[in-house]
Amino acid sequence: MSDELRISFEFFPPKTPEGKNKLYKVREELQQFNPDFFSVTYGAGGTTRDTTRGVVKSLIEQGIDAAPHLSFGGDDEETVASLLSDYQQIGVKRIVALRGDLPSGMGGHSQLVYANELVAFIRDRFGDQFHLEVAAYPEVHPEAKSYSDDIKFLKGKFDAGANSAITQYFFNPDAYFHFIDQCQQAGIDAPIYPGIMPIINYRNLARFSDSCGAEIPRWLRKRLESFGDDVESLQAFGVDLVSELCETLLENGAPGLHFYTMNQTQPTAKILRNLNGDD
Ligand code: FAD
Repeated sequence: MSDELRISFEFFPPKTPEGKNKLYKVREELQQFNPDFFSVTYGAGGTTRDTTRGVVKSLIEQGIDAAPHLSFGGDDEETVASLLSDYQQIGVKRIVALRGDLPSGMGGHSQLVYANELVAFIRDRFGDQFHLEVAAYPEVHPEAKSYSDDIKFLKGKFDAGANSAITQYFFNPDAYFHFIDQCQQAGIDAPIYPGIMPIINYRNLARFSDSCGAEIPRWLRKRLESFGDDVESLQAFGVDLVSELCETLLENGAPGLHFYTMNQTQPTAKILRNLNGDD
């Protein structure tokens, strides 16, 4: 795999001290792949404000480029600006700017601020202090009225000042290539990095995919279901399948890969070793 490809790893902030210790071990193990940065998710509504910041700060103190995810949630401008100032002070150079989803029980989407507005807000208050990543949806965001509307709003995020995008995960590479083609036709020439979801647990993956609009093709659902409780075989199959997906993406021009690690070293490490041609 070429050194020019951008590799990044996503974590979620752990809830317990044990989870935190485990995460630092995972981080150390994944460091061998020389990632460009680690990103840390944010519970829209501010539910993980302290834990996201804590993980980001600790990574930066270890000399690692760490990018917090951020959204307005229900927060006002001054709360968000003060978190951004704080991020600037601790050495954050990159933000993943999102509308986010409110956790269930915190109300509907009505008060959520679209990501393009957050990007515009950060550019207005902080100029070019941060590299801004935004989210993109090759298989269409579940609330989008149409395919072209979704691309129009993605373009709006770049027009507001975003630098690059990371996609929702997908298992069909054609969805990504068609999307890139349509983005280019819409005048988007910034890099769009495919988000890669390892297959760890079928039930969780199926539930999450239904809610976030990522498609598990029928043949793949059937194949994954057939493993039943044999998690080891499911994960081995998943590593092969996702390695092939990554290979196809990189061979056909994807500028890098962003892994949703689920705070686990394996299977992301196995996939990257396959791509590097190791054992
Ligand atoms: P937006 O870009 O604002 O789009 C949301 C919806 O509104 C889309 O349907 C879009 O077509 C439409 N839209 C966009 N702009 C406008 C506009 N101006 N007017 C009208 N309609 C518009 N969620 C979390 O809670 N925490 C995280 O840390 C997190 N990290 C993520 C990381 C990545 C790489 C990805 C792909 C997703 C992540 N998510 C996270 C999920 C994301 O927050 C949800 O998918 C959310 O529903 C949309 O966020 P967005 O930033 O894409 O929203």
